[in-house]
Amino acid sequence: MPELPEVETIRTTLSEHVSDSKIEKVKLIWASAVCGWEDQSFEDLVTGRRIQTIDRRGKYLLIRLDSDLTLIAHMRMTGRLNYFAEKQEPAKHTHVVLSLDHGEVHFSDVRKFGRIQAIPTPLCFSGSSLCKLGPEPLEAEFTPGILKERFGKKKLSIKAALLDQHVLAGMGNIYVDESLFQAGISPERGVDTLSEEEISKLHRAIQNVLQAGIDAQGTSFRDYRDANGEKGFFEQALQVYGRGGKPCTVCGQTLERVRLAGRTTVYCSSCQK
Ligand SMILES: [Zn+2]
Repeated sequence: MPELPEVETIRTTLSEHVSDSKIEKVKLIWASAVCGWEDQSFEDLVTGRRIQTIDRRGKYLLIRLDSDLTLIAHMRMTGRLNYFAEKQEPAKHTHVVLSLDHGEVHFSDVRKFGRIQAIPTPLCFSGSSLCKLGPEPLEAEFTPGILKERFGKKKLSIKAALLDQHVLAGMGNIYVDESLFQAGISPERGVDTLSEEEISKLHRAIQNVLQAGIDAQGTSFRDYRDANGEKGFFEQALQVYGRGGKPCTVCGQTLERVRLAGRTTVYCSSCQK
């Protein structure tokens, strides 16, 4: 599933092509991939609008159109937004084609969990799933104190807490496992057992790992591609994710693979306490 670094990379690569483009036509191949607003259909709302900018909140893309309309896009497991400079036949799993005054954007999704929802911009953060998201981990306002506050008195494993988008927005299985490894904290620890020093270490690790992921244009472990169809190369830097049973890159001990918060979790029981 695309996480913050992948969604941020889609945002930057797509923005380069589509900012200030007019959406001339909407073709829906699988209509359930989109959602209009009240009694207005997605096609009626979107056709003829101009794309202004693209923002990101957690794992959501916010495609800002003129006349105060926003398209909230979530890739879920396998969603992709691809830009093509020339008209392109839709591929097998393409569900939506936005024809622009120059080029096309195709939304495709093998697993069909991804969605694009049209919503009036002023209601973006109150009338959608964005309203309950936790803080943005790379923004200056996100401090160790805020992280501690978000954990509150929860009786959760640190793994489950970091996957919870209401605690912190944007992290998924890859970057949670990598951050915990870098912070030297076992994913099985309860959030209520972390010391101030450990929370500070974790805060720093989260920011380092997410920024490194963005710098590498994301992780293409399975399906992820940016808007140009290119893979990211962060998987070369992965220390634990996807490496269960292999030796720890720091101490050489075999990495553990356990199931936590319903997700496969990999860690080093010697480096992570
Ligand atoms: Zn180790």
